[in-house]
Amino acid sequence: MVLNISSLLSGEKNRLDIDYMLSVATEDVGNSVNLSGVTFPTPARVTGVITDNAGYMRLKLSVTLPYVTVCARCACDVSGEFEINFERTVVPEGMVDDAEEKEEDFVVVENGMLDIDEQLTEVLMLDFPTRILCKEDCKGLCQKCGKDLNEGQCNCPTKEINPAFAKLLQMFDEE
Ligand SMILES: [Zn+2]
Ligand SMILES: [Zn+2]
Repeated sequence: MVLNISSLLSGEKNRLDIDYMLSVATEDVGNSVNLSGVTFPTPARVTGVITDNAGYMRLKLSVTLPYVTVCARCACDVSGEFEINFERTVVPEGMVDDAEEKEEDFVVVENGMLDIDEQLTEVLMLDFPTRILCKEDCKGLCQKCGKDLNEGQCNCPTKEINPAFAKLLQMFDEE
């Protein structure tokens, strides 16, 4: 969404509340490897505020993005909400060089309008977790028989083989 912040620039207001939905199309992020298999069923909710403190404008946002994917260990369906906080200094067009010199994180106002969707989408995609688990201690699947170990142990031998003995077995295998 393009936000009209002219009431802040004119000094008429010193804070502006933000609340809108940002659609994050899966196609936009399709070339991002860590997001393969993730879909976003609804747009992200963006809430926050821009404050003006004697000409110093600060944007603070909180973004909540619902997602659907599969557990990285057991491959069961997982859905949840990913949340980020986003803060930037709001810089009028002519002042960009100053902000760059200070290496601030900033967003630029053009003709009283602020377009933050592209930056928001980028930050969301960069910060999105590369591995999502159905639960923190998900036991995953047995590498041998494929049984979901969250449902109980399988019958595969779990005893650790003595490494020296394993090497010997491997030699037999090769022969
Ligand atoms: Zn799992
Ligand atoms: Zn097994």
